[in-house]
Amino acid sequence: MKNENSIHSEIDLEKERKEILYAFKNLLKVSKDARTKEETRMIRKAFDVAVEAHKDMRRKSGEPYIYHPIAVARICAEEMGLGSTAVICALLHDTVEDTYITLEDIEELFGERVRSIIDGLTKIPEVFNESASIQAENFRKMILTISDDLRVVLIKLADRLHNMRTLGSMRHDKQLKIASETNFLYAPLAHRLGLYSIKSELEDLCLFYMNPEVYQEIEGKLKKTKAVRQRFIRRFIHPIKEALEHEGYVFEIKARTKSVSSIWRKMQSKQIPFEEVFDLFAIRIILDSPEELEKPDAWRVYSIVTDYYQPNPNRLRDWISTPRANGYESLHTTVMSPQGKWVEVQIRSKRMDKIAEKGLAAHYNYKESKNGDNKFDRWISEIRDLLDNPSQDAMDFVNEFKLNLFNDEIFVFTPKGELRVLPTGATTLDFAFDIHTDIGLTCIGAKVNNKLVPLSHQLKNGHQVDIITSDKQKPNEEWLKFCVTARAKQKIKAALNEERKMIAEDGKQILKRKFKQFNVKFTDSNLTTLQEHFSIFSLQDLFIRVAKGKMELNRLRTLRNDDGVLILDKDTNSKLIKDARIIKNKINKKDVLVIGDNFNGIDYSFARCCSPLPGDQVFGFITLKEGVKIHRTTCPNAENLMSKMADRCINAKWKTKEVKEHLAKLRLIGIDDVGIVNKITQVISFQHHVNMRYISFESKDGIFEGKIEVYVLDKLHLDQLVSKFEILEGVKRVERWDEAKEEVLEEEEDNLP
Ligand code: MN
Repeated sequence: MKNENSIHSEIDLEKERKEILYAFKNLLKVSKDARTKEETRMIRKAFDVAVEAHKDMRRKSGEPYIYHPIAVARICAEEMGLGSTAVICALLHDTVEDTYITLEDIEELFGERVRSIIDGLTKIPEVFNESASIQAENFRKMILTISDDLRVVLIKLADRLHNMRTLGSMRHDKQLKIASETNFLYAPLAHRLGLYSIKSELEDLCLFYMNPEVYQEIEGKLKKTKAVRQRFIRRFIHPIKEALEHEGYVFEIKARTKSVSSIWRKMQSKQIPFEEVFDLFAIRIILDSPEELEKPDAWRVYSIVTDYYQPNPNRLRDWISTPRANGYESLHTTVMSPQGKWVEVQIRSKRMDKIAEKGLAAHYNYKESKNGDNKFDRWISEIRDLLDNPSQDAMDFVNEFKLNLFNDEIFVFTPKGELRVLPTGATTLDFAFDIHTDIGLTCIGAKVNNKLVPLSHQLKNGHQVDIITSDKQKPNEEWLKFCVTARAKQKIKAALNEERKMIAEDGKQILKRKFKQFNVKFTDSNLTTLQEHFSIFSLQDLFIRVAKGKMELNRLRTLRNDDGVLILDKDTNSKLIKDARIIKNKINKKDVLVIGDNFNGIDYSFARCCSPLPGDQVFGFITLKEGVKIHRTTCPNAENLMSKMADRCINAKWKTKEVKEHLAKLRLIGIDDVGIVNKITQVISFQHHVNMRYISFESKDGIFEGKIEVYVLDKLHLDQLVSKFEILEGVKRVERWDEAKEEVLEEEEDNLP
């Protein structure tokens, strides 16, 4: 009996070594276009690393593992037209997942780009878990979005294609699983990327394993009818060929055989037998035309074809004028042959054919040129540019990509690898609420890819998020600012309301006890008196304030009459409210405060929150202790004041001419650029009568935000300044900068008896 060792020794290692080298040489041969010496050296290095790392591994078929990465690299170069970076990555694609090689090793040896591609490849699981309740479309989207480098997806497809080609040596149940997954995920993905040949091959292989009887039957019939078909096609083509040659065209005619899987699909969807599907012949005329003549040439050929055969007017498809979403260009027509059979004729240029076969990526060549200028990267950045600038006439293709690569969803994972889909901009907190309300409500932070981050951390595609909770945690108002999902917002609001209700209830009980203690009756009218006295909008707010200990309740003892009714007006401490009343008494509802005039002897000042300027639309608000404050009608506080304390708002306008400097606050947002601060300050100093009081600049991730306070004469003056800022290069937005809420809140707090 043979033991394992003797089996092993039967393998001719020397012969194997030679075969591996031969396979590698072939890879170099098919990928040699536009390659520098340095690139060849790196490919060689990747090969050596992979050979060494996989040296003790064998595939299920028994062959050395290294055949697989070599084959994948070859698919990338030969069938997808990818350049040397992809070849290097394909050679290394299984090293990090299956061997001792780490991502750090990869970066050290091959640089950052290769590392990030390998990292992306390692993140896509080899076989997806069936139990995961995730939609197929989400998976495809995820695969596309997980990597900002499309090469990750392409190498993954090449990997899958080779695994499908060598599926024969796998166990039957595995064959079925891998094949159905391929059918479900990878073939549509290849289609989406316009990789037609790969898509057809994947589908054929799937059918071969999933439905072998059907596959063999169709394949058998195709073989049997091959001779008849070829004769028919030869006859059909003959006159067209002669005419084209006569006209001097350089061209090639291919008779397209439908793939087994597409015949099967048609048989099923149309409920027709093989013979009828197969009856639909198709030929392809590929013209060697320069790019500027592609379209006229195609139409000229169309006209020649239809000179010989009658076209079906309903079957004309012009994908040249309007290419399909994935970049496909071609002119299709269906014509009647003398034998009474419909034949589809596809007319296209060599370039269009290449796109149809290898995907749009092939058009951009993917190949890194000698000066290191990577066309592929340029292509991706072109797409990005188009997306950043939607006014440009972007192709459908780009829109398609937008949906997939840059859509408004992100794909993130739980610690167990479960996929979650969230809107772009979603934070740790959104994620926590997405998992469970209780997790959201007690969330104190998270680990994202093992790094500690706050609640407000914005998640990115591919992030793995581990939420940290604490029993002590409670939601607060701030949280609403950094979540984007409706679910999280609604849950936080509900929790806050619940909390307010509880606090208010506490406050109510406290107030009840105090009233009792001081012989004040707990009546609606007493509560209203109290509420009005403090200008509190609702009873709930009053109770909350009591609960939070913000009311000096002991004074209530002296502020009641013998019947237990609160008389707050009579107390000297309530002078504040009287001041406001005096002002109110002095003002007639129809009065307009004219700024600059002495208005009924009442003091007025400008609100700090919105810094009104002459020319702004304004109104006055009677404060409890500082006279009348002038606010802009667009002030963030205006709505609150006018809706809740309308009786304290008065009309106001500017006196026509008042030469006085006013403080104005501006916020500038733009692209951080050397010297931008200098440019901004120069504008200010060259502008007449503008004095700067305050300037601050912050810059984050290339975006700067500047805050400036300047003295200007009026709105017109400010507008002039703003327009000077707006034309500065790099400045994207200039706006009045208002501090919301400041004043009203302050007033509420200070205003105790
Ligand atoms: Mn692999």
